[in-house]
Amino acid sequence: ITSSDLVSESFKRISEVDDKVQAFLTLDEENARAAAKEIDEKLGTDNSNGMLFGMPIGLKDNLVTKGLRTTCASKILENFDPIYDATVVNKLKDAETITIGKLNMDEFAMGSSNENSGFQATRNPWNLDTVPGGSSGGSAAAVAAGEVLFSLGSDTGGSIRQPASFCGVVGLKPTYGRVSRFGLVAFASSLDQIGPITRTVEDNAYLLQAIAGIDPMDSTSANVSVPNFAEGLTGDVKGLKIAVPKEYLGEGVQEEVRQSVLDSLKVLEKLGATWEEVSLPHSKYALATYYLLSSSEASANLARFDGVRYGYRTEQPESLIELYKKTRAEGFGEEVKRRIMLGTFALSSGYYDAYYKKAQKVRTLIKKDFEDVFAKYDVIVGPTTPTPAFKLGEKLDDPLTMYANDILTIPVNLAGVPGISVPCGFTGGLPLGLQIIGKHFDESTVYRVAHAFE
Ligand code: GLN
Repeated sequence: ITSSDLVSESFKRISEVDDKVQAFLTLDEENARAAAKEIDEKLGTDNSNGMLFGMPIGLKDNLVTKGLRTTCASKILENFDPIYDATVVNKLKDAETITIGKLNMDEFAMGSSNENSGFQATRNPWNLDTVPGGSSGGSAAAVAAGEVLFSLGSDTGGSIRQPASFCGVVGLKPTYGRVSRFGLVAFASSLDQIGPITRTVEDNAYLLQAIAGIDPMDSTSANVSVPNFAEGLTGDVKGLKIAVPKEYLGEGVQEEVRQSVLDSLKVLEKLGATWEEVSLPHSKYALATYYLLSSSEASANLARFDGVRYGYRTEQPESLIELYKKTRAEGFGEEVKRRIMLGTFALSSGYYDAYYKKAQKVRTLIKKDFEDVFAKYDVIVGPTTPTPAFKLGEKLDDPLTMYANDILTIPVNLAGVPGISVPCGFTGGLPLGLQIIGKHFDESTVYRVAHAFE
């Protein structure tokens, strides 16, 4: 099969299903076909050039792509054509993947359902009345619907794992620092990570391989050697010690979800692993901590959208202050404004110590909970989300219940450790995800355990 065949298949599938799924914001058909043709002429079907060579991929629309519209699903960037590529995009070019287009998301990655997109609400391919999750909902839905073989998403507080779980695909948030964030439009810089969304664990490992590693353009990317991730996919989990936090199976977790995790643990036991219940005592503070810290960072990061340097600008402002005010009032959606106000408040003098500084301290305690468990166990296992995909509109008027959907994924971002969601069952025709969390920079063990379910 040639790259042109794959790319044609991709566009064919998109034309068949995307008016219903609505995963794509921008397609890059002409360039994609030309790139595929070039690859085919160069090497035909010989793919000794690497596993991703010539394969169609989709990118979340907060990854900047040179000359290809990058909106973050925000009206404020509706017509923004970046002048450079993100490091991950450059790396994919080196691996010679073919970018098919840019995928929908919650505006600036703030949300859990894709309903906060400034343009469209992506649907869950398993049931079009339900949400695909978020914020990387477009990335997960496109892979689930067979529109692309792989995609990249970003995960600040669950935004890769939660949509992967809702859409029945595999999504990894790498260790903080494993993948360069250069060219990822920043939401909360101390939490954001780019990661792969794929159909299989093996594909996921290949894609991470292509994008991982230190980058001089991102001082938070880590100088840690990148192992061969696929090598660890032996299926052998004998002797592995698994921790199951009691907080992850307690109140608020739907019974079918709990059962699917217990069934998955039985599978791992059969393969020679053992598991015990543990506690992450500070996880009950994770949601509050996350919303204080992520909103604070977002309020600073989003200050750059001022109508002067980027994207949308209001018409005929009467003063500079009015230019800022009207541009931001007209350009940002509700949820983004809510986060900016929350973050600005938490950082303001007089409140800083009580909110931001306190949240930083609690973050350290949450991180320590994980360190204590990892001193004795190899991985932590639990559900990815408390429920399967919910109905469109169901949580839209109640931001707090929307926030609660990320209760099991957010602690992982605060601790900076890697976590994956793999499909582990169905309920009511909707997929469920198992979350496997590993030690810092130990994606290999996370993959090894996840692979046991394939
Ligand atoms: N749903 C969470 C939020 O709205 C997570 C977002 C993310 O990981 N980008 O902040």
